[in-house]
Amino acid sequence: MSLNAPRAAVAPRRNSHPPAGPTVTRELLLAMPKTDLHCHLDGSLRVTSMLEMARDQGVTLPSDDPDGLAKALHSGQVCKSLGDYLQAFAITLSVLQTDESLERVAFELAEDCHRENIRYLEVRFAPSLHTDAGLRVTAVVESVLAGLRRAEKQYGIRSGVIVCALRHESPSETFRMAELAVAYKNKGVVGFDLAGGEAGNPAKNHAEAFALILNNNLNCTVHAGEAYGPESIQQAIHYCGAHRIGHGVRLVENGDLLNYVNDHRVPLEICISSNVQTNSVRDFKTHPLRFFFDYGVRCTINTDNRLITKTTVTEELWLAHQHCGFDMDDLKVLIVQGFKSAFLPFREKSELLRQVNAEIASITGTPPRGPGELMRPTVSMPPPSGA
Ligand SMILES: [Zn+2]
Repeated sequence: MSLNAPRAAVAPRRNSHPPAGPTVTRELLLAMPKTDLHCHLDGSLRVTSMLEMARDQGVTLPSDDPDGLAKALHSGQVCKSLGDYLQAFAITLSVLQTDESLERVAFELAEDCHRENIRYLEVRFAPSLHTDAGLRVTAVVESVLAGLRRAEKQYGIRSGVIVCALRHESPSETFRMAELAVAYKNKGVVGFDLAGGEAGNPAKNHAEAFALILNNNLNCTVHAGEAYGPESIQQAIHYCGAHRIGHGVRLVENGDLLNYVNDHRVPLEICISSNVQTNSVRDFKTHPLRFFFDYGVRCTINTDNRLITKTTVTEELWLAHQHCGFDMDDLKVLIVQGFKSAFLPFREKSELLRQVNAEIASITGTPPRGPGELMRPTVSMPPPSGA
């Protein structure tokens, strides 16, 4: 793995100063207001609900007890490859082919998020994967939106839908999904995404779908640089106009692109556990999150798949603390960057950020730092000549 980025320009904050802020505990992280911007509906349901829905629908699952089913879904286990990991979705999708089940799992996902103080959730799914029993893609989107609305009414949790297209599908199919996303803009859909295996399925094949998205002023993100090199991220940004990047862990391999992403403040949707589970990174300690953060790249912390990866945002922040040296001040910045990167209108986002900053200050005793304070040059530059 070659690293061209000019790392020496910025001091790594780890070991450069004593830990800042109160002691990090899971309880404190749980209490903090948070976002989850990268969360797949079909990877984030409850095992118990799967078993109930399978019973009601007459669907046979690999196991009829929670532990056996969790094992079949690789829940929390390291997989041999991204391909292995993706196989688990065939199981979850088998019970997600009715409007009732989609409404239910969307509601329950938002309820689970509410229980760990997620204030803003973006749920993504590929509507085309829920049509095996004849459901129309419009009904798929509307059922999920209905579940999210019910949760918002009950718990106050705000949310939006990201419509996923799949890399291995034809450009005409991804275009159809882009049309669907455009139709539901301002009706709960806040963005468009391209998911699925990167190798052999370049994002540029789907440039026409993204042109429709961009021409309709809709937000978009692309899974890129997860199981393929920085070329994939380059295409996501320059062919698809991605406003955020899903994962992007392999951005460390191209310093020029890294600086472009940083200069344009393109947020990375980081999912630490998922990256280890799919072998995109070797282990927690070598995850590039620490370097991205120190370099000033806007990073957000997300779950990817709450069931299949067996995680929560609270747990992911805890891992960043335990394995990547993030102290409380750093974690507060990560949390705020999540809110800043939300696909929300600017005015709504500003108001939400104002509330969140006040809440973080009251929980931890100090407000979050501004991003400018992250940049601490190690070398003092000489004054300009003649000064
Ligand atoms: Zn994902």
